[in-house]
Amino acid sequence: MKLDLKSLTQDELSRLLIKQGHPTYRSAQVVQWTYERAAESFEAMSNLSLPLRQWLASEFDLWMVKGLREQHSTDTTEKFLWQLRDGQLVETVLIPATPGLSSSADRHTVCVSTQVGCAYGCKFCASGLHGFRRNLTAGEIVDQVLAIVRLGRTTGLRVGDAPVVADPKFRVQNIVVMGMGEPLANYDNLMKALKIINAPWGLNIGSRKITVSTCGLPAQIKKLATEPLQIRLAVSLHGTTDKVRDQIMPVNQAHPIGELVEACEYYAKTKGRMMTFEYVLIEGVNDDLNMADQLAAMARRLHAKVNLIPYNPMKDLRWQRPSMDRCYAFAARVKSRGVAATLRIEKGGDIAAACGQLRLQAERKPAE
Ligand code: SF4
Repeated sequence: MKLDLKSLTQDELSRLLIKQGHPTYRSAQVVQWTYERAAESFEAMSNLSLPLRQWLASEFDLWMVKGLREQHSTDTTEKFLWQLRDGQLVETVLIPATPGLSSSADRHTVCVSTQVGCAYGCKFCASGLHGFRRNLTAGEIVDQVLAIVRLGRTTGLRVGDAPVVADPKFRVQNIVVMGMGEPLANYDNLMKALKIINAPWGLNIGSRKITVSTCGLPAQIKKLATEPLQIRLAVSLHGTTDKVRDQIMPVNQAHPIGELVEACEYYAKTKGRMMTFEYVLIEGVNDDLNMADQLAAMARRLHAKVNLIPYNPMKDLRWQRPSMDRCYAFAARVKSRGVAATLRIEKGGDIAAACGQLRLQAERKPAE
């Protein structure tokens, strides 16, 4: 298999090009074609010499993900199923605006996956249903964003329209690492991908516009706290006691809530940044108003804000969404305790937007 160009930083690429006898400025030209202009082939990189284009094409793959299926929601959320070079499938979601992260309708948020499948098996999530297959490379994480740019989706073009060269004014503004997989379990590739996404020579997306979500891996949360990149952290809490988390999140058996809270305290102290607690409301599991009080107390102590997400029921899973009255009452209770909280209705409910669902459908019924 050829090397994965988008897993390399500009410095790494530069070293390889110098070894081949090319001047250093060539790496700047290659990354400009790759990230700023979303080039579709090495051939298209017209200001490079022919021998260099031929060498690049013989050594590297430019596309890491190929479009297999798309779904379009009535709320304009779009979901993409990609095939990787080894045939594995992953999903990416393009969300027009995300309350709690951004309120402007012209903002584009891309939700990327970091693993094929997931080993953590949260009971309410489709991604873990078939277990873990493999980690994504940094290039496979980065290319999920570029593939959407290549399709022209962030410019408002639709299926069948010609791809467009990425224009800065149509760039993706926010990245949320909340798709398939546990990002912090693929730590090194994740950090490299974020470096490329953030770099001025790369996708040039500000670190404060990048949010990484975790189901709660204490050692990796502490490690993340020491990273220079000022990304945002979202902790998928979904319960404030071991009893609740044990029921829906097997990770809690290895890392009970006390350990998670201690890691969050360390993160908050070291980074001095506000984190977000994600809390999926599931009927009869974690929607009791006493639990809203516990959640508010925890959020206040850790200086966290809270995103409440009414559960999006799935055919294969037994959980139900609480009534909307219950969801509003839960949110009001958290807010009444002085905590910033949003009740976020999950976008793309009509296209199975929760992570892992489209892949699951495709693996059961291969693409025509
Ligand atoms: S919620 Fe996240 S960590 Fe849990 S199974 Fe799904 S992808 Fe994995």
